[in-house]
Amino acid sequence: MILIVLLSLGIACAPHQTKTNVTVSIDSSFNSQVKLFEDLYSIPVNVSIRFVPDLGEYAAVCHEYSPNNPDNWIEVDESYWYSISDAGRDQLMLHEFGHCVLGLDHREAMGNVGGHINVPLSIMYPIAFGDNEYYRENLQYYYEELIK
Ligand SMILES: [Zn+2]
Repeated sequence: MILIVLLSLGIACAPHQTKTNVTVSIDSSFNSQVKLFEDLYSIPVNVSIRFVPDLGEYAAVCHEYSPNNPDNWIEVDESYWYSISDAGRDQLMLHEFGHCVLGLDHREAMGNVGGHINVPLSIMYPIAFGDNEYYRENLQYYYEELIK
């Protein structure tokens, strides 16, 4: 039996118009996810990351000028962050790095992954899903798909 529990929280990218001049600052809570991304793809994370108390329906938001621009920043809903597993946190941040570091858009296709039927085919799917079994069981697939 395959249990699909998609979280109702979305992940969004929200381009901003006003350019600021901010030194890159990464809350140490995200060190593990930054290291994961940098180890996987050999691309440094050159964007700021911080918690905010409440992002409404969103789990996290990438504010992006251009890929890996130091003026980019990611905001993460703090209460959501502490409600999910480590795998959920990894997927959430790899998604935001997909936007803010790699310049990727959403990929909404669903299909079959590792015997799981009709699941998101990409970390760039617009809804967080890293707490699900199909993600945890197929990390290598999802890691490779992100950069291809
Ligand atoms: Zn997104």
